[in-house]
Amino acid sequence: MNRHQISTLVIWSAIFLVFFLMVSLLGNMEQGLKGKITYNEFIQLVEEGKVSRVTVEDRKVEGVLKQPLEKNGRKVEKFEVVLPYQDPEIIKELVSKGVQVEARERNIIWDIIISSVPWILIMLVLWFFLFRGIGMGSNRAFEFGQSRAKIYIDNKPNVTFDDVADAEEAKEDLREVVEFLKNKEKYLRLGAKIPKGVLLVGPPGVGKTLLARAVAGEAGVPFLSISGSDFVEMFVGVGAARVRDLFQKAKQLAPAIIFIDELDAVGRMRGTGIGGGHDEREQTLNQLLVEMDGFDGSEGIIVLAATNRPDILDPALLRPGRFDRKVYLGLPDVEARYKILKIHTRNKPLAEDVDLMRVAKITPGFSGADLANLTNEAALLAARAGRDRITMRDFEEAKDKIIMGAARKSAVLSEDEKKKVAYHEAGHAIVNRMLPGMDPIDKVSIVPRGMALGVTVPLPERDRYLYEKSYLEKQLAVLMGGRVAEKMVFGEVSSGAANDLQKATEIAERMVKEFGMSEEVGPINVNENKQVFLGKELVTRNGLSEKLAEIIDREVLRILKRAEKTAEDILRENEDKLHALARALLERETITGEELDEILGIARKDEEHPHES
Ligand code: ADP
Ligand code: MG
Ligand code: ZN
Repeated sequence: MNRHQISTLVIWSAIFLVFFLMVSLLGNMEQGLKGKITYNEFIQLVEEGKVSRVTVEDRKVEGVLKQPLEKNGRKVEKFEVVLPYQDPEIIKELVSKGVQVEARERNIIWDIIISSVPWILIMLVLWFFLFRGIGMGSNRAFEFGQSRAKIYIDNKPNVTFDDVADAEEAKEDLREVVEFLKNKEKYLRLGAKIPKGVLLVGPPGVGKTLLARAVAGEAGVPFLSISGSDFVEMFVGVGAARVRDLFQKAKQLAPAIIFIDELDAVGRMRGTGIGGGHDEREQTLNQLLVEMDGFDGSEGIIVLAATNRPDILDPALLRPGRFDRKVYLGLPDVEARYKILKIHTRNKPLAEDVDLMRVAKITPGFSGADLANLTNEAALLAARAGRDRITMRDFEEAKDKIIMGAARKSAVLSEDEKKKVAYHEAGHAIVNRMLPGMDPIDKVSIVPRGMALGVTVPLPERDRYLYEKSYLEKQLAVLMGGRVAEKMVFGEVSSGAANDLQKATEIAERMVKEFGMSEEVGPINVNENKQVFLGKELVTRNGLSEKLAEIIDREVLRILKRAEKTAEDILRENEDKLHALARALLERETITGEELDEILGIARKDEEHPHES
């Protein structure tokens, strides 16, 4: 449930509550003035001729006395009594005693309404909650007629290409768009064909949104944005209307940039997907196509869209005149990470020891968003420690925190458990260092962190784009190193190696099923999970032959066992080093890569001259 829904619910609950309080309060006030009396007292009062008039409704009798009566220290003039049974005689009796009798018909309808209110309330609440869970209806119950798809307008973003690090090719491609928005006439006069739609493709956090805003910022034009994922949960027709709105507004503000984030959410191929036709999504998509055909570039509108799944887009979107250009953004490499870090530390005071290039080196696989997060996290750590500059340690701590979760200072391990963790990590580290061609180690630590009780952190010398079979096999051996060490020293393995096994199995499976690295299975891709992504056809390859599946399982196991054997051989050969390293870990908890190599007696390449060999 989002915030909006919760507040809606709270408001409604409050209204009902106030209403109920008022109703019951009014009732009580009325009651408070009347004295409740017993049947006996009532008969007695009638006998004594003290009653002046009564109103009879069913078995309830409300009456007024001729003179107020003292009852429990209170003056009672009006009274109320419920008759034990319906008694026609009592009416005659009353009349004969000169009491004015008024009969009132029972208001059945009102009774029903009052008594059913709580039930209606309960039903409503149930309905709200149930509806959220049912199929694609999700959030509708709360939002009659309201659309969540908001159009954000930024009249002139103050972001420029300088705020986007690296991504030179993407910027180059988009510079044309900027030029056009700046001097549309020049292009039109020359009869040049202007791009209408540009698709920004790349994984999350690589700066697609940022770059789109920078285009608007560079050109000095308004930036209208909307997110595709907001459309998915809407009523039929609302999404289409919103798209119409969006283009209408853009035409008023032209020249302008329209940005559609998460285009795949609306732009998925039509007529596919589990759960059948998403009518509202298709209508929205159709409207988008109509709008894109409806202007010709002379208006000065350019539509940018972002997606990380271009493969599932409806082909109609990619046709000429629509999103016929693609700009790719990838995860940043070391250089790019360095530049991004530079941008995000522009306004932050850094201590002398901060080496951003090193930070870039220890953050392979980080996206721009991750790096922005990293610098912020480092600043927070420095602030919390009361430093006025961010130190290298803050960056390292922030990195570990982002990758593995915050250090758990509170996790108290027994001496015995600590020893196991120390040998386990020592096992990983030694296998890693003894295999040629593996990355050096940044640090080994037995400080519990997130889910892990200890870590061995590699320090990649470069970003890897390709993984050779031999490299993966070595990686598997490193993963096995932890449990092999435990088995050697303690005679049995612990549950601490579960995560290693999971990772290892994943790698081995991909080697066999995707990379064709098993001689026996051969050059085939048999990853049956692909269909989950709902491409054109729902099911592409329906299962493997049983025989092949068997061979695959056997091959995966064989690869894993061989890796275990490699690790075992290495650790047996270096048993003294294993003990030395484990001892050092128990003593110091965290050991740097240099210290590690010292313990293992490995000469390190001088870090200052990485190009010497
Ligand atoms: P995407 O839209 O691709 O998911 P965003 O544009 O939302 O990514 O990026 C999120 C944040 O990450 C940005 O606001 C910015 O702070 C940072 N970032 C990402 N890529 C870069 C980059 N190339 N240069 C500078 N900052 C970046
Ligand atoms: Mg984004
Ligand atoms: Zn491990």
